[in-house]
Amino acid sequence: MLQNILLVRKIYASEEHKMMKAMIQEFIANEVLDQVDEWEKKGMVSREIWKRAGELGLLCMDMPEIYGGGGLDFTFNALFIEEFAKKGISGPGFSLHSDIVAPYLLNYGTEAQKQKYLPLMAKGEFITAIGMTEPNCGSDLKALRTTAVDKGDHYLVNGQKTFITNGFMCDMAIVAVKTNPNTEEEGVTLLIMESSMEGFTKGIPFKKIGMKAQDTCELFFDNVKVPKESRLGDEKMGFKIMMKELARERLTVGIFAVATAEGAIESTVQYTTQRTAFNTPIAEFQNTQFKLAECSTQMQIHQTFLDRCIELLVDHKLTSESASMIKYSATDMCGSVVDECLQLFGGYGYMWDYPIARMYADNRVARIYAGTNEIMKILIARGLFKDILK
Ligand SMILES: Cc1cc2nc3c(=O)[nH]c(=O)nc-3n(C[C@H](O)[C@H](O)[C@H](O)COP(=O)(O)OP(=O)(O)OC[C@H]3O[C@@H](n4cnc5c(N)ncnc54)[C@H](O)[C@@H]3O)c2cc1C
Repeated sequence: MLQNILLVRKIYASEEHKMMKAMIQEFIANEVLDQVDEWEKKGMVSREIWKRAGELGLLCMDMPEIYGGGGLDFTFNALFIEEFAKKGISGPGFSLHSDIVAPYLLNYGTEAQKQKYLPLMAKGEFITAIGMTEPNCGSDLKALRTTAVDKGDHYLVNGQKTFITNGFMCDMAIVAVKTNPNTEEEGVTLLIMESSMEGFTKGIPFKKIGMKAQDTCELFFDNVKVPKESRLGDEKMGFKIMMKELARERLTVGIFAVATAEGAIESTVQYTTQRTAFNTPIAEFQNTQFKLAECSTQMQIHQTFLDRCIELLVDHKLTSESASMIKYSATDMCGSVVDECLQLFGGYGYMWDYPIARMYADNRVARIYAGTNEIMKILIARGLFKDILK
């Protein structure tokens, strides 16, 4: 169906990609799909599924083999994200772990930090999170209030983070803090904080309108002693590092959005072919055909730009502006495609058992997290006017 009209994706053309795709699809069909209801009831996935993904080599696929990774390139990570998105599965926070936390360590960690964490992460034995947002600041990250006071061989950390993906299950989080607070040397610094550290506690997972199997929660730090060797990068480098790494995070959100739209269209084509009204398959109404034609066109246009962005990331050339463009435009597109598709399901589209309903609820947040779509437009405009306006 949809595959009949889509452009062939060169980024996934190799035999290795085809084999990986088949393995991921098998993993989802045999080990993930029938657990989703249970995970949603608990508000989190199981630790076993993390270990199983690790065993299959599906975590940290683009990390070097010397650190336990797959030694592959990012296109394999992208494929993994897409197969989950197409089926409307948002529970396991694998992508945040493999595509966001792992590169922070690889790119800015010391050799000891890489050796300590990356192999455990690749095995799924250590679940990770990233803590930037606080109750008083999300978009305006520089305003964060969590402090890390220098105590010689360690920092004393106090503060709070909120909306943290993998927060409840995490064994380790990269946390943005203010070092040298209220002095001229004040700045944002990143620390590697293990959840077993004394004074590190977690809230219960939030009840959300979607992504119900993902354990989003608050993290609290009460006089947590963090050894100096757990600093990631230099003091005051945190903001710069986050701005650089956020391009990749935004790309992953774009990947999830485009694949969700593809999955939504595919399942709507199938549904409308089977469902009848007035003795006619819904698919035969011109409205259905026009809506799905429009959705497919939008999805294809975004997929083409997305593939270019993935290639650029693999070549270390993805700019902040392109990452912002794909993030905001693909998530807006996904929102409207899923909405149109749900409409074509009629009342069944509103029922939780139908993946289209989950896609509808799950993807609303994509326009908010990893930087809101409004912030993406600010970043794109900043690039446009860089040499003109102060
Ligand atoms: C399910 C979920 C998972 C998340 N996971 C993580 C995570 O793992 N780690 C983490 O650190 N954070 C995480 N977040 C937080 C997320 O990144 C923030 O919610 C997001 O960046 C927005 O920040 P905020 O909620 O404080 O909104 P605010 O910054 O308060 O923004 C509110 C509104 O104001 C608009 N706005 C703000 N500034 C401007 C401006 N200058 N111009 C125009 N409009 C503006 C915004 O676009 C938005 O519409 C998660 C959030 C959710 C909901």
